[in-house]
Amino acid sequence: MNILVTGGAGYIGSHTCKALHDQGHTPVAYDNLTYGHPWAVKWGPFERGDVADTAKVLETLKKYGCEAVVHFAAFSYVGESVQKPDVYYKNNVGGTLSLLLAMNEAAVKNIVFSSTCATFGGPITIPMNEKHPQNPISPYGRTKLIIEQMLKDFTTSLGFSAAILRYFNAAGADPSCDIGEDHDPETHLIPIALKMAAEGKGAVTIFGDDYDTPDGTCVRDYIHVTDLANAHIAALDYIRNHKVRGLYDDFNLGNGKGFSVKEVISRAEKITGKVIRQTIGPRRPGDPPVLVGDSRKAEEKLGWKTAYSNLDTIIETAWKWHLKHQNQR
Ligand code: UDP
Repeated sequence: MNILVTGGAGYIGSHTCKALHDQGHTPVAYDNLTYGHPWAVKWGPFERGDVADTAKVLETLKKYGCEAVVHFAAFSYVGESVQKPDVYYKNNVGGTLSLLLAMNEAAVKNIVFSSTCATFGGPITIPMNEKHPQNPISPYGRTKLIIEQMLKDFTTSLGFSAAILRYFNAAGADPSCDIGEDHDPETHLIPIALKMAAEGKGAVTIFGDDYDTPDGTCVRDYIHVTDLANAHIAALDYIRNHKVRGLYDDFNLGNGKGFSVKEVISRAEKITGKVIRQTIGPRRPGDPPVLVGDSRKAEEKLGWKTAYSNLDTIIETAWKWHLKHQNQR
């Protein structure tokens, strides 16, 4: 099957293209390369374009006879979204609406959507399952929640079928080291810590150590990117096997276990064998103290199981990728 992967040159998008290819599908990576990388497109054709360009999306869907869409293309920096909400609403909400209009026109109505635990906001119960109230505390989280709601409406009235996948903290790299994480600017904890380890200079700024958590730093649920990629395959199968149109279902994808910022840095020091210097900075706006996911629904309904998501494997694969990739830049 040919599948349009928006944001297919990005971090989770490219890992999903690899997983789709491994399953015998052809991923058509559609990316404007604002954050994506041409080198990350290896498993199918590449079309450079913006999801906001409805005509180009429509043309691409038709050109390849795509039967489904996996939608990653979005801006995803929590902190930046607080500073530039206009940009985030335009790109994420406006871009997705454009994509859905093209899909509707092309009668391609199966979509797996890359959502986020940031749609929940501060935790009321831990771990968080799909019934957890959604009160996002950042514009980024709100844009993703609006898209979820938009998709729900499209499934109710326009014959779309949608699976919403809400990731907790995507991390790690392809175990065969074909691809990995490379953001510019890099804002994520694990790659920043590994960069400090590799370069032996600078320090990781810990964003707040006065949270109500065991060591005062934020607790997050780190999930391996390859496990996330495989969840998209399972979700696509789930939609396609569901004969009745109008399916809408949501799945939280986490590991069920949280680690604090300090714990992550300390594990990274053990794995790399390097000292990683740290300084304490102010809290980052939009950060809840604890985010840990309950993925039992995905396990039960999608048959999804994690294979790489213990923290050591996550950091080990990310470290291997970092060492390989720093020589390629
Ligand atoms: N974090 C930090 N220093 C950094 C980057 C991140 O203390 O330089 C913290 C951040 O506040 C959060 C956790 O590490 O609690 C994971 O953040 P990341 O940006 O990796 O992922 P996000 O939670 O934004 O998806």
